[in-house]
Amino acid sequence: MRETQRGQATSAIRQADVLIIGGGLSGTMLAAQLLRQSGQRQILVIEPRRELGRGEAYSAVELGHTLNGNAARMSVDPDNADDLTQWLTEYIANGGWPESDQQPVPVSELFPPRGIFGLYAQQRLAEAQAASQSTVEHIRAEVIDLQVEEHSTLLTLDNGQQLQGVFAVLATGMFPAARTPQTFSSGLNAAAVDPWDVSVMTELDPQSTVLIIGSGLTMVDAVVSLEQAGHRGPIEIFSRHGLLPHVRRQPPSWVDFLAEDHTIRSPRQLLREVRRQCRVALDQGIDWQAPLDTVRGHIGRLWSQASEPEKRQFVRHVRPWWESHHHRSPPLSAELVARLHGEGRLRIQAASFKGLEPSVAGEVSIRLRRRGEQQSMLVTGAALINSSGIEYDWRRVARPLPRQLLARGLIQPGPLALGIAADVSGAVLDAQGHASPRLFAMGPPLRGMWWESTAVTDVASQAKALAAKLAQL
Ligand SMILES: Cc1cc2nc3c(=O)[nH]c(=O)nc-3n(C[C@H](O)[C@H](O)[C@H](O)COP(=O)(O)OP(=O)(O)OC[C@H]3O[C@@H](n4cnc5c(N)ncnc54)[C@H](O)[C@@H]3O)c2cc1C
Repeated sequence: MRETQRGQATSAIRQADVLIIGGGLSGTMLAAQLLRQSGQRQILVIEPRRELGRGEAYSAVELGHTLNGNAARMSVDPDNADDLTQWLTEYIANGGWPESDQQPVPVSELFPPRGIFGLYAQQRLAEAQAASQSTVEHIRAEVIDLQVEEHSTLLTLDNGQQLQGVFAVLATGMFPAARTPQTFSSGLNAAAVDPWDVSVMTELDPQSTVLIIGSGLTMVDAVVSLEQAGHRGPIEIFSRHGLLPHVRRQPPSWVDFLAEDHTIRSPRQLLREVRRQCRVALDQGIDWQAPLDTVRGHIGRLWSQASEPEKRQFVRHVRPWWESHHHRSPPLSAELVARLHGEGRLRIQAASFKGLEPSVAGEVSIRLRRRGEQQSMLVTGAALINSSGIEYDWRRVARPLPRQLLARGLIQPGPLALGIAADVSGAVLDAQGHASPRLFAMGPPLRGMWWESTAVTDVASQAKALAAKLAQL
């Protein structure tokens, strides 16, 4: 695959059929699916990172930073659920992951390191390229502006280069959490340690106290990083609800009760029925994860047919519960968190982050308010890790492209200001609500349209459908 290096710009406007903005898993899978379509297309993937297929998630270098689902759940081929298992079996047989033999389970039940998953995505792209008449090229740059013309789209890159394509696709993924006012977030991020950077953590005093904001899967990764770095001191975790992710097990199959009952529409009805199904399962000695896992396939339909007040109700009341029960932790990481919790070294408290406070060198102080309390409290540690999540509201993302798209009226916020609005095929809605014939989006930017629009299987199936659509136009 060809790659154009950063800074290599030519003055002529380059032409292509499809311009894919972002070369994480979404952009890479879309490119692979376009390569599989008949015909001959030129596809440019614009991505500042050195490699395609990785994004933040699959750039991981630590073996302990694994997928949150086992191999059988993480295929990038919507037509073959065993695709990752098959690839991984060969990869392990060729000596690619010798540590996997420490886990006495079938390959389909292994939770691969995310860095290895990135290789798998890259290899599937390379195979699609080898079998195709179309071409994919990686342009290393950030897209800073986009214009839509009658028959084309025009991108401006941060090196000044311009690219013209018949279609453009926003596969820009997730933006790290930002909070208002802006100084608040920049101060927080400047004071915080990268949750995945083990080398920085090795510089901490091993007995010092580390503070973590947020208690989702990024927190779990941060605890794995600290352990790997040799940290043995207290870990204080604060999140609004104080909920830890459950551990992912391998439950048996369960009847797809939502497929049989279309009367369930509101979040309240859904929660009531899911709880009932879980109780039935538990009464039969079956894991509650079995009924819960059947809900996943219906979330897009339920979310998109819900009214705005119902969506709000879901976000306010069901979301914390859904996050901790559905976005579950890989078993080895969950074991570590449980062990440290049991030893009293890791504590979790329900408290909201209120701001950074001045502190002496080598320390960081934060102000928090415990759930149900009026008074705030001050907590000090040697380091702070921010694992508080994602900014889905594009109006608050301080990157040039989202700002330009909003300023040009080419996009509008999605439902509840989660991502951007699009029609069912991914055609982006402009400020007037018209679906663009030229500009499309996929993956996390469509959070507001489908609620779950981020995981491997979500982006893999969206990539296939969007490639088929673009090939027809
Ligand atoms: C740490 C982490 C772990 C995860 N683990 C799992 C997991 O185990 N299982 C699972 O199903 N999902 C997981 N996810 C969800 C994950 O985000 C998706 O699986 C998938 O990576 C989404 O891919 P994406 O390409 O849409 O987004 P991203 O991976 O965010 O990639 C988007 C890319 O777009 C590029 N970009 C953005 N703006 C521009 C621009 N203006 N110009 C050019 N390029 C741009 C960025 O550089 C980035 O590389 C995880 C996410 C994270 C962050």
